[in-house]
Amino acid sequence: MKQNNHLSQIDVDAYAEYIGNQKVEYLRSMAEVLQDREWAHINSTFEGGGVAEMLNSIVPLARNLGINTNWYCIEGDKSFYSITKRFHNIIQGVDQKFTLEDLFDIYIKTNQKNFENIVIKEDFTVVHDPQPCASIIHGNYDSKLIWRCHIDTSEANELIWNFLLPYINNYDGVIFSMKEFVKAGIKKPVYQISPAIDPLTFKNRQRTHEEALDTLDPLLKEYQIDPERPIILAVSRYDIHKNQKTIIEAFKKLNRDKKIKALKPQLILVGNSADDDPEGMEMYQDILQVINGNKDIYPLLNIPDNDKNIGALMKLAKVFIHVSTKEGFGLVVTEALWQGTPVIGSSVGGIVTQVLPGKTGYLVGPMDTDSIVSHAKHLLLEKEERARMGTQAVEHVRENFLITGLVEKYIKLMRFQLGIDYPYFKILPSPHR
Ligand code: UDP
Repeated sequence: MKQNNHLSQIDVDAYAEYIGNQKVEYLRSMAEVLQDREWAHINSTFEGGGVAEMLNSIVPLARNLGINTNWYCIEGDKSFYSITKRFHNIIQGVDQKFTLEDLFDIYIKTNQKNFENIVIKEDFTVVHDPQPCASIIHGNYDSKLIWRCHIDTSEANELIWNFLLPYINNYDGVIFSMKEFVKAGIKKPVYQISPAIDPLTFKNRQRTHEEALDTLDPLLKEYQIDPERPIILAVSRYDIHKNQKTIIEAFKKLNRDKKIKALKPQLILVGNSADDDPEGMEMYQDILQVINGNKDIYPLLNIPDNDKNIGALMKLAKVFIHVSTKEGFGLVVTEALWQGTPVIGSSVGGIVTQVLPGKTGYLVGPMDTDSIVSHAKHLLLEKEERARMGTQAVEHVRENFLITGLVEKYIKLMRFQLGIDYPYFKILPSPHR
């Protein structure tokens, strides 16, 4: 088990610019009773993917509020990550196989091994996703424990769900991003909490068009991307569910339109590989084949100055596309909306809470290239419409998906779990369908 000792510092007052002084004061007052109490997070990577992205802000913010908060990461070898990636896939509907050795000799043993020299004694612990889920039994805790599931388990394969359920039902509670994700069989209290972004990070700092251009100058030069031509952007891990192939197909179709062709749009795909995702490189190679040398499509991998450049690209883009076939939430959608860029998103998982049709973007079926084309065409041609949606997009994120709101919900849950308070929000019955 590793502990993250490289976190930045955050001052909660800095959020007043985005949420107002009153909300900052409220957050502070909610945390007051938790001064010097301890909070732990356990996941499986310090870098890459939405969970690490959020913990990089949640942990320093909680510390600044006076809660002693630590972030641990379980360690495994390649075979462990190959199994947990298969868990992830099979839970989201892809057919994958496991042997008894996979589950018992590798998955469980890795969970066990991570706790050989450590007891997690923080008052309240949040265990993220399936990778460390079994540590509730095979780990070593003296803590109130919550399992936080970031993926859509609503149609999880029965075999893997039945394997995970006894672990899940040993936690004191479970959090899902959407109530629709809760599959039958959970006997512990279930809560709904949406993920969120941090407006103070390099990535999410709001910038002007000129600032974005300035930041991007080296990257655009390196890849010979012309900032005068409209940019259609997609950002995500190279992963089967992120469905980049459909975006490429839609872009090729879009370019057959005469009016659009005259604008010379370019498609930029940005992706990275996460430490706990061994399939990324293979998927990237597949994508290169689909692109087949098309000069208007730029498939970028692990870009330099990742955070600054991602935020700046999101600002510069005219349209952001995210048409996953399965999606727990899709932080990239929030990030793009926050930069004032309308999003064409698939009507899947948490994307539907972010993309409000006609208001912050458009919803389409994940494989519906024709709808992607018609909405992209509309957004590329109608500047005022784009600006109107962009303004609404920013306000939608401010109201619903900023990190301060997320930490407030965790604090309320912690107060309840530690016996300080009544529950502040509804405990959902299981299942919800
Ligand atoms: N991301 C990044 N660089 C990349 C691709 C993705 O920094 O090249 C970030 C992205 O900005 C977002 C996170 O990784 O913050 C992905 O979170 P999301 O919820 O969209 O997807 P996940 O990877 O968790 O399925």
